Amino acid sequence: MILPIARRFVAGETIPEALEHTRQYNEDDISVILNLLGEHYDNAAEAREDTDTYLTLIDDIAESGLDACVSVKPSQIGLDVSADLFEEHYREIVAHAHERDAFVWCDMEDVDTTDDTLDAFESIAEEYPWSVGQCLQSNLKRTRDDLERFVDVPGKIRIVKGAYDEPASVAYTDKADVNEAYRRDIEYLFENREQGVAVGSHDPEMISLAGRLADEHGTDYEIQMLTGVREDAQRDLAKQGVRVVQYAPYGKKWLSYFYRRVRERKENVLFAARAVIGR
Ligand code: FAD
Repeated sequence: MILPIARRFVAGETIPEALEHTRQYNEDDISVILNLLGEHYDNAAEAREDTDTYLTLIDDIAESGLDACVSVKPSQIGLDVSADLFEEHYREIVAHAHERDAFVWCDMEDVDTTDDTLDAFESIAEEYPWSVGQCLQSNLKRTRDDLERFVDVPGKIRIVKGAYDEPASVAYTDKADVNEAYRRDIEYLFENREQGVAVGSHDPEMISLAGRLADEHGTDYEIQMLTGVREDAQRDLAKQGVRVVQYAPYGKKWLSYFYRRVRERKENVLFAARAVIGR
């Protein structure tokens, strides 16, 4: 059972709980991306098991009529076993979604996985247009070139600041430099893509920037935020007519995800501490 304090950040442990979470947020015009918690499987059986769960989840979403899609992690569906296995599972999941008018996002993990992840995305997006979206990280120095490479690819792009500590040889390591790169990448996407732009951030400055650029360029875009983070802002933006999409992890492996959320922000540590001491 999920600890009550962790419940804020996850959509439950099972598919029915995740769908019920989705239904509640859909009532506030917030769309939901469901991510089955799990990563870094070094054996094919576990990667297959999670791939199968995504196929079931996509069926259940399609049958439910809910406004939801899924997001997979490369190392969850085979990348730590081999690039071929990852691409095979990724293609299978997207093909399944494509047949059901559903949508699949792919998260981006550490820099050693970037090439394999992007090569698979490019090939699968060409095969199943507008059924797939890829996350790219502005902290990586290569990302501007990658955005140019994908400017005409028929898939969505989620741009984020980047969650992995990478070496200075490949990444901006200073927070101000990451923010500057993020601003530049957002501007590039809004100036050069008419659709399929997702800004994955809780940062009020970046969300305002996206709104201004959409007014200027007419870009079709969405704001993506995590479950349990700035939910008032999620609702306010949705009320203003902005497309808001909440990334909602679910599943049995919620403990390490919960620790990550708590560690990244001192307010969350206080929130967790208050919950533990009952105040
Ligand atoms: P930060 O730079 O952390 O903070 C900027 C400002 O935002 C803060 O000053 C504050 O005003 C506000 N803020 C931020 N967090 C909070 C909070 N908890 N409560 C209140 N205010 C807050 N990273 C990857 O590497 N790969 C992925 O695939 C990936 N997918 C993501 C998907 C989504 C939908 C989101 C939202 C993030 C994803 N990330 C991913 C994580 C991302 O890279 C950042 O690490 C994370 O979003 C923190 O950056 P930020 O832009 O939200 O703001």
